[in-house]
Amino acid sequence: MSAPALVTVAHGTRVAVGNRVAAAITAKASRRLAVPAQGSYVELCDPGWPVTDEQRAVLASGDLGWAAGTVGAVARDAQGRLAAATSTGGTMGKRRGRVGDSPLIGAGTWADDDTVAVSCTGDGEAIIRIAMAHEVEALVRLRGMGVEQACAEALRELERRGGHGGLIAVSAAGEVAAQFSSPGMTRGWRVGDGPVHTAVGAG
Ligand code: ASP
Repeated sequence: MSAPALVTVAHGTRVAVGNRVAAAITAKASRRLAVPAQGSYVELCDPGWPVTDEQRAVLASGDLGWAAGTVGAVARDAQGRLAAATSTGGTMGKRRGRVGDSPLIGAGTWADDDTVAVSCTGDGEAIIRIAMAHEVEALVRLRGMGVEQACAEALRELERRGGHGGLIAVSAAGEVAAQFSSPGMTRGWRVGDGPVHTAVGAG
């Protein structure tokens, strides 16, 4: 078997892959391929190594814009159990060590089998201030709102605190919502064996 090659993936971590994979990657993104490894399977590279010229230009312009790297999921299983998960790269130009809303239960993520599962994206500091995911749950549980209405109300509250964002939610009854006050939010959903729906902008 030929020696593995080192490939840099997310966050500057180089991982070993077989030569066939390396060749496929090389064909698409040769500048991301490092030299063949000498038995070392994982190695850290300089944190600046994956930074592209395009990213440098955005940072230099001061127009940090929208991070657009957050991935959220909510699910209701056949027994009616609810789950939510959120992962993010944070916001562009963030301070070292910043913790946003995504990993904070109640802020960016919440699930309760009795009510609703919620995952949020957007301005993390404002989302934390209003505990947005839990806010949706509280509106459903205490005010008897449907998830559509509860998500809309939570987004209004976010805007009152100067934030923009979006959220996805599924209720204990299987009602699905995906709403946002940002320019767009890539999203998809499926109910049972029904069709897969996807959307990016409004509508
Ligand atoms: N909410 C994330 C954060 O503030 C960013 C995002 O959703 O794009 O870290």
